[in-house]
Amino acid sequence: MKESNMQKKINKSHLMNYYFCKENLWLNLNQNFSSKPESEGDKFRASQGDKFELAARSLFPKGVLVEGSDINIKQEQTMRFLENETDIVFQATIESKDFISISDVLVRNEINGSWDLYEIKSTTNIKEDNSLHKSSSNHIKDISFQINVLEMSGIKISSCYIIHPNKEELFSINGRNNKNFFNVVNVTEKVALEKNIVMKDMFEMKEFINGDISQGCNCIYKGRNNHCDTFNISNPDIPDYSIHDLKSVGQSKATLSELASGEIFEISSLPKDHKILTKSRRGQFESYIQKKPIFNITEIKTELSKIKWPIQFLDFESYQSVIPIIDSYYSWEKIPFQWSLHTLTKGGELRSVDFLANSISKDPLIDLSETLLKKINTQGSIVVWHESFEKGILNMISNRMPKFESKIKELLNNIFDLEKIFKANMYCDYRTKGSSSLKRINSILLKDYTYDQLEINNGENAFIEWEKMVSPSISKKEKETIRKNLIEYCKQDTLATYKILMYLNELIKKESK
Ligand code: SF4
Repeated sequence: MKESNMQKKINKSHLMNYYFCKENLWLNLNQNFSSKPESEGDKFRASQGDKFELAARSLFPKGVLVEGSDINIKQEQTMRFLENETDIVFQATIESKDFISISDVLVRNEINGSWDLYEIKSTTNIKEDNSLHKSSSNHIKDISFQINVLEMSGIKISSCYIIHPNKEELFSINGRNNKNFFNVVNVTEKVALEKNIVMKDMFEMKEFINGDISQGCNCIYKGRNNHCDTFNISNPDIPDYSIHDLKSVGQSKATLSELASGEIFEISSLPKDHKILTKSRRGQFESYIQKKPIFNITEIKTELSKIKWPIQFLDFESYQSVIPIIDSYYSWEKIPFQWSLHTLTKGGELRSVDFLANSISKDPLIDLSETLLKKINTQGSIVVWHESFEKGILNMISNRMPKFESKIKELLNNIFDLEKIFKANMYCDYRTKGSSSLKRINSILLKDYTYDQLEINNGENAFIEWEKMVSPSISKKEKETIRKNLIEYCKQDTLATYKILMYLNELIKKESK
């Protein structure tokens, strides 16, 4: 192993990183770049994993925790527990041949003196993804890694299990037995088939980390979504805006590979009739070449003519966590807590109303639905951005509160998704790099109306702040500040949608002259 990596023990996260991309792992370990700081969303997801693990330990009341932050001390403690009378060990820490494994739960198997391993995962499904996508994960390989390390240290494992939230079991906050909320799945056979393959991979990985890598990496054959932060380090000659930024270009694998193999990376080097320039990428290409937006005014006009008065702009915010914070929700189920509604009357008046759940002493969905249905007009259009989210929340209201079913049906019929104009390439600006997200379109079209000045400026931060706002330990002053910030943020989304519609209307007027 390289000098700089000598001290670093190889853990299962390294193996998962290796499966995603060897070069990325190598660069990470050699710290040749500064990766993006962890986002609030990343921290939240990690904390959810910890919370679920803590809760799942309740299935093993006699478990003993290996504590501390020093790995050597943890190993000594683990060995003491395993050699003595301890039957259940949390966070057993074992090292062998430069590999280190920390197991969530080890349970002594009384019959043959071996151990059973329980891995705690906060996902509602067992992941067995063998693709090389950035967010892919494989729980079977993860457990295989641990078993290989344990067995190399002479600790025999008989059976292994994954404990994860049962997506079909409602969680009870108030005391009902939640035992069925924890799904315990025996994966012994799957791991038996995988562990020798993983063992081979572990030693290949060790050798790879120890070696040197040449410049360039395989992501030249993949779309931008699959690139990591190191792409520019490995490929310094590829322009920042390249063929990799064409809309969903990763889906045209063979053509992208042909171009990359021929070292054609500049969008401007592509002939107009190149097969990579499919209908959905043509607008972006033209806009890039001409350095101005490309639009089809007839299509935009036809689409916008479907909007009915009064025009309403609606946006929800929702919260989700591995262990629901409200009674009778499923793991990771969305809990809507806020809406913002702007209404534009035919007379040109723009009105704004909103709702934000102040506490979780009762299900926020009740007040959220009742207030919304009082304020919203069932005749006018409801303009949203990315309709699947708002439709999902409305359907949820209808399912959980059948008394609102017919009214929700009317609302669903009146949903108009403004994102469609950009998604369907009726309006293309190369600077969005093929994205049609509200924030991206807003930043390009409405330069003076940004989210930068807001304390909360994205959906993830919004629900993290709301969780803080409804926690019992928060001070009155802090609660009021978060409340104000959340209202501002949600309003900004509906106001931005309104402003984009106005922008398009102005464009139609201008082009019709
Ligand atoms: S850009 Fe892609 S191939 Fe290159 S190191 Fe990152 S993930 Fe790996």
